[in-house]
Amino acid sequence: MLGSMSDPVPALARSLPKVELHCHLEGSARPATIVELAKKNGVALPVDDPTELFHFDDLNSFLAVYGIICQSLVTADDFRRITYEALEDAVADRVRYREMFFSPSFAMAYGVALETVWDGIRAGLAEAHADLDVRCRMVLDVDKGGAPSAATDLVAFAAQQDRDLIVGIGGDSTERGVDHSTFLPAYELAARQGLRRTMHAGEDGPAENIAISLDVLGCERIDHGVRLIDDPELMARVAEARIPLTVCPLSNVLIARMIDDVAEHPFARQREAGVLVTVNSDDPGMTGTTISDDYEHVARAFSYDLDTMEQLALDGIEACWAPDDEKAALRTRFLAEFDAGRADADMAVRGMS
Ligand SMILES: [Zn+2]
Repeated sequence: MLGSMSDPVPALARSLPKVELHCHLEGSARPATIVELAKKNGVALPVDDPTELFHFDDLNSFLAVYGIICQSLVTADDFRRITYEALEDAVADRVRYREMFFSPSFAMAYGVALETVWDGIRAGLAEAHADLDVRCRMVLDVDKGGAPSAATDLVAFAAQQDRDLIVGIGGDSTERGVDHSTFLPAYELAARQGLRRTMHAGEDGPAENIAISLDVLGCERIDHGVRLIDDPELMARVAEARIPLTVCPLSNVLIARMIDDVAEHPFARQREAGVLVTVNSDDPGMTGTTISDDYEHVARAFSYDLDTMEQLALDGIEACWAPDDEKAALRTRFLAEFDAGRADADMAVRGMS
């Protein structure tokens, strides 16, 4: 039996097939690649050692490092490379389907054209889809630290692209001092153009930002949503409507530093309240952790059994924006992989006894 060893679930959770819905392209870049690209593009970095590049103490100092990464990305080929590598790393963690954010405002602030960013990403996606066992759609993130009119321009660009490549829009960066309702024109345009809508909210801002994202901006998903726990009425509404939260437990420990340990995360309480919570990595290149680490930590922190961890993987499918037939195929594949994983684990246990 699986339960006969000292809890094997956290290790088994690592090898589950996964959907990932909250992961940033720029934050997924390998540190060694950023160091190489910075050198090639003549960008001075504060350090030479890739392992020392990604040091930060909170969300705002994290965003400063994020700026350095974006400064190092100049040509379309730079974006092609980090897109391909991000998906190569995803496959190593058994991510079968990903919706990945990209935040062009950062590179654009350094003079890179939006078309250059997008041409590179598109090439990286095409290559990854040809070579690798993963499907990825992009979500264009507007920068909440920037002007709402710039956000509307970005959405207008996204609206002209293939929906199979850009499936929706989101908003990231700081929540501090940001009135989320000012992004209404961008979100209205997205709705009219058939783009799906999400928003980083309730990460370093209050539950009120989640309410504004849902009720004013018409978001269909919430990224992070940690502070939803502070508003039981809103939480009941989110649970009832099956509005997914894309939760990034280790990121909340390592980047936002709102908690010291995953065990303090409201993830389990939100799930018990019926909220459709999913597990995601956020910025794996920058934190040095992967979605498998998040799965492992969640299993351990909340003593979840394998059934529950498998259900979390399936919840990722429910929460994603792939067409229905693609979701059904993912589900069939995941169930078969769960069975195969359990058979392997069972054999390993028997072999030891
Ligand atoms: Zn994020």
